[in-house]
Amino acid sequence: MTSSPMLHPFGITKKGEPVTQITLSSDAISCEILTYGGTIRRLFVPDRSGCPVDVVLGFDTIADYEAQDKYMGALVGRCANRIAHGTFSLEGASYSLAVNNGPNHLHGGLMGFNQKIWTVEEVSGQHVILSLVSQDGEEGYPGCLTVRVTYRLEQNTLSIHYHAVCDKTTVCNLTNHSYFNLSGHNSGPVLEQQLKLFASSYTPADETSIPTGEVAPTAGTPMDFAVLTPIGERIEADFQPLIWGAGYDHNWVIDGTIGTLRPAAQAYSQQTGIVMDVATTMPGVQFYTGNYVESTPVGKAGAVYDRRHGFCLETQFYPDAIHHTQFPSPVLHPGQNYDHTTTFHFSVK
Ligand code: BGC
Repeated sequence: MTSSPMLHPFGITKKGEPVTQITLSSDAISCEILTYGGTIRRLFVPDRSGCPVDVVLGFDTIADYEAQDKYMGALVGRCANRIAHGTFSLEGASYSLAVNNGPNHLHGGLMGFNQKIWTVEEVSGQHVILSLVSQDGEEGYPGCLTVRVTYRLEQNTLSIHYHAVCDKTTVCNLTNHSYFNLSGHNSGPVLEQQLKLFASSYTPADETSIPTGEVAPTAGTPMDFAVLTPIGERIEADFQPLIWGAGYDHNWVIDGTIGTLRPAAQAYSQQTGIVMDVATTMPGVQFYTGNYVESTPVGKAGAVYDRRHGFCLETQFYPDAIHHTQFPSPVLHPGQNYDHTTTFHFSVK
C-alpha cells in the first residue's frame, strides 16, 4: 500500500459544498475519511488469511450520507448522546437546544458536527488533522468551540485524537459513531460476534435513554461483558434496559482512571478472525447494536444494512452528564484543553 497522501473529490452536498475523501494507509491497514462529518467511510483490516476486510458500514455517495440520520461513521458533537429535554444551565444561564430524539436532545442537534464540512488542516499518508469551528450559539450551545480531530494509522492501530478549546464555558463531548462489523460491512447481523467490555458497571437509564444517575454493577445481568460473549446471546433477554433500548444502547463505565489510555472493549469475529481492541481516555462507552439501522439508503457496493448489522463503541462522557454532578463533567472552560484519545487496534486469532 502507498504511504503518500491521497485526496479525492467525493461529491457535492445539497448545499453546494465540495466534499473531499482522504485515504490513509499504514503497512497493515487503510482507511478513507470524508470531510463531510469527519466520517470514516471505509476501514480495511486484514483477516486471518491476510485479505483486507472493510469493517465499517458506509455509503458510496454524499447524497446517501445526507439521506441518513444514523450518524454513520461520523464525528459527533458538540455533545454526543443525550441531554434531557434539551435544556441545561451553566454559570447561571440557561440554554435550550433542539429536541430531536423523543423528549431529548441527541448528538449535537439538528445540524451536528456529523453534518459539517471539516477543514483539512494537515495531511500525510498516515494521518489527517480535521478542524471545525462551532460558533457561539450554534445549535443553542454557549461559546465558540474550536475542534481539531486527528485520525492516524500506525501499523495495526487507528487512533483518533480529539482536541477542543472554547471562549466561553460550554459542554463538549466528542466521539466517532462508526458501525463496526468485523466479518465485513456487508456480512449481515453482528449477533454472533463477540464482545468484552472493560467495565464492571453501567449507567441505567429510563425509557427515553436518560440515565437515572445510578451507577450499577453489570455482574449477573445481560450487561455483563467481563469475558468475550456473543453480542446476541442475551440481547432479547427479559431485562428492562434491553427492552427500553430495543437491544444494547447503553453507557458502560470504563474501569480505571479517566484521562489515561486504558482498555475499553475488545470485539472478535470468528468468521474472519479479526480482533478489535479499543482503548480510550474517556470515562464511558456507548455500546449500541444498531437497533435502529434500516435498509435505506443502500450501503457501499449495494450492501443492505439492516437492524443490528453493525455495532458502535462510542467513547464518551456519560449521557446527560451535564445534569448529574456525580458523573465526570463534560463542561469545558476557556483556557482548558479538551484532550482525549481513542484507539482501535486490529489483530487476528
Ligand atoms: C444512540 C442511539 C441512537 C444512535 C443514532 C446512539 O449513540 O445511543 O439511541 O439511535 O446513536 O444512530
